[in-house]
Amino acid sequence: MLSQTVMPIHPQVQAFLSAPRQLLINNQWLDAADGETFETRDPSNGAVLARCARGKLEDVDRAVRAARVAFEGAWRKVTPAERAKLLWRLADLIEAHADQLAQLEALDNGKSYTNARHGDVIWSADHFRYYAGWPTKIEGATIPVSVPNQLNYTLREPLGVCGLITPWNFPLEIAAWKLAPALACGNCVILKPAEQAPLSALYLGQLILEAGFPEGVVNIVTGFGDEAGVALVNHPEVDKISFTGSTAVARSIIAASAGNIKRLSLELGGKSPCIIFSDADVERAAQQAALGLFGNSGQSCVAAARIYAERSVYEEVLERVTEIAQRLTLGAGMAEPQPDIGPLISERQLGRVLGYVQSGIAEGAQVCTGGGRALEGALAQGYFMRPTVFTRTKPEMAIVREEIFGPVAIVEPFDSLEAVIQAANDSPYGLAASIWTRDLSKAHQAAAALKAGTVWVNTYSMFDPASPFGGYKQSGYGREMGAAAIELYTQLKSVWIGL
Ligand code: ADP
Repeated sequence: MLSQTVMPIHPQVQAFLSAPRQLLINNQWLDAADGETFETRDPSNGAVLARCARGKLEDVDRAVRAARVAFEGAWRKVTPAERAKLLWRLADLIEAHADQLAQLEALDNGKSYTNARHGDVIWSADHFRYYAGWPTKIEGATIPVSVPNQLNYTLREPLGVCGLITPWNFPLEIAAWKLAPALACGNCVILKPAEQAPLSALYLGQLILEAGFPEGVVNIVTGFGDEAGVALVNHPEVDKISFTGSTAVARSIIAASAGNIKRLSLELGGKSPCIIFSDADVERAAQQAALGLFGNSGQSCVAAARIYAERSVYEEVLERVTEIAQRLTLGAGMAEPQPDIGPLISERQLGRVLGYVQSGIAEGAQVCTGGGRALEGALAQGYFMRPTVFTRTKPEMAIVREEIFGPVAIVEPFDSLEAVIQAANDSPYGLAASIWTRDLSKAHQAAAALKAGTVWVNTYSMFDPASPFGGYKQSGYGREMGAAAIELYTQLKSVWIGL
């Protein structure tokens, strides 16, 4: 259960952590204008990992001005083929530095090195490679207008300066989801990583310089949401904000965007249902549901937070999910042997998750396993939460309706397709859903009826840079990945030529 040994830290990671981490503005590493810094901590033991520059309004303004100059100047002159090469080179560099990036992610976010190395880092490289294919394929169209003696065509052009605001649960990967298409389309960017886990983005900044991106094209401003984040969303020279984070913060971004009518794309919370029919491979379904929920310690926007099992297999599913929850090993991201799941990101997040668990218990839900913090040995120093399974909940309970963002599952029975679709859709969110059945017709009916941006059938948490991802309802708008993201970072110009 308890792993105390930790793997050796890569010398480059050691060196990276020991120097103060600065802001990347106009291809230079700079302190914040007022010299302030903040600490980033290892969530497995609360120890300070590094000090980062605390960017504020003046720093954001400097970064935005650098991005604007690059957008109106040098970056425009870079051909699509050259943009493609830069993105491909960056992907190669990410792979060459995969160990270092994975260690930083494990230390700063708490996820296991193995998951970071074979998941987050490799997927990030894949993302840059996929979008390296796009700059040479972004096309307008000739439009068959009916006005005589006129030629009409469209140009698909970049938006300009984009602010990219990312969360702490997949710090490198979500930065890649935004940087790759924004740059492929010819925009200049300011990346504002989450203050809880900014290190992999800053390391990526070094690779961006090594890849050879011109001055001002990619700027990285670390800092707090209510300082650097707010400055970015309020800035009149920022044309677009791409945000992944909480629905509450999204509301304030929507309000701030009114100032200069900023384009927005928002990928927000979820409370994804996982529906297991009795004709499914129940063993596999329960296992995947549990992993879909407890993976990344439940800190995933697509976590299978509500598991609905058809009544005849409900006991079996509940038992299986509970068993898996009990078997999962907890430990630091760098622990050896590698744990199944790591700590929550912060003491605050642990407090939030415990608060939800307490509210569920107070309202009469039954805890099958877990229900509290993990406190054995070294785990007591970190923000470890026991994987928790609830049943006998009521639809109106906070643990059923709200996004917990922790390893807390809810398993409930259902009696018919109609009833389970109704329960699944009874949520302000609509990010993802999954269905487990061998009945083709049931699968297609449910896939069509579920109000969710992604539906997985007999599989879970599948992502590919080519496949669009985003939310229905309060899970946001805009679709990242695939061709859909090209639309997020471009605008159409209609050109008329009188003949
Ligand atoms: P979480 O609650 O999961 O930490 P948040 O939505 O608070 O998620 O944070 C996601 C990202 O948004 C982080 O980079 C954070 O700094 C940033 N952020 C937080 N508040 C604001 C805000 N008011 N304006 C802009 N960005 C913000």
